[in-house]
Amino acid sequence: MGTRFDIACGRLPETVLDLNFADAHPGLSHEQAALEADRCFYCYDAPCVEACPTGIDIPRFIKAIASDNLAGASRTILQSNILGGSCARVCPTEILCEQKCVHTAIEANHAVRIGALQRFATDWQMNQSAHPFQRGESTGRRVAVVGAGPAGLACAHRLAMRGHDVTIFDRHEAPGGLNQYGVAAYKLADNFAQKEIDFLMSIGGIRFQGGAVLGQTLTLAGLRESYHAVFLGIGLSGVRALGFENEGVEGVLDAVAFIETLRSSTLSDVPVGR
Ligand code: SF4
Repeated sequence: MGTRFDIACGRLPETVLDLNFADAHPGLSHEQAALEADRCFYCYDAPCVEACPTGIDIPRFIKAIASDNLAGASRTILQSNILGGSCARVCPTEILCEQKCVHTAIEANHAVRIGALQRFATDWQMNQSAHPFQRGESTGRRVAVVGAGPAGLACAHRLAMRGHDVTIFDRHEAPGGLNQYGVAAYKLADNFAQKEIDFLMSIGGIRFQGGAVLGQTLTLAGLRESYHAVFLGIGLSGVRALGFENEGVEGVLDAVAFIETLRSSTLSDVPVGR
């Protein structure tokens, strides 16, 4: 197959691979963030917030950055979206919050760099030793979360915060789902997905069990018997098919499966075509 389709490993030297897979958009410096935050008008009916799928109070966190209150900024982001750090890196902000920013209505102007500011604030938080939220008093209630992707992790964090004991089950050996296995490495460089999971789970009260597959090693009925509640965060694992005949032919992978291979291997060991 390798000869017929010319699919081979090690096509690029390590130095080029390192460059190609380095952080696509490195973070802002303190000065850049302060200047960018000062551009925000802190709109009352902020259209950027309307466009944010997680409803983050954007003018509030930007105002906190402008006042050099980074704890307040990151808390504002993370209380709406505990995965605000990875969203700052992977969200298509140019068609969401930034597209709606009122600056874009001014000729020759550009949107406030909301994603970059969000990354600046959440990166600051990641470098602090203390978790910004406290785990509540134990309720004695146990919750099973099926799926350790963004939905399952966010759900588990909020439940743990409210004092419940959470077990997350996932078919993979490590938690993270799409963030860990399905996002291109140059968007979440330096093992950021794992750092964010460690941060999220440091609130306490969350256990992870990998290699658990609903319908095979787990059943919904069994979980309902053993836990007070069950959350199914099984995600959208299917990808859009091309609709070609024989698209499952050897050597053809969908993007998410290919990224999973990239994320789980030494890059030079991944066979690719020309
Ligand atoms: S729309 Fe733009 S200027 Fe207005 S609050 Fe949002 S980021 Fe700031």
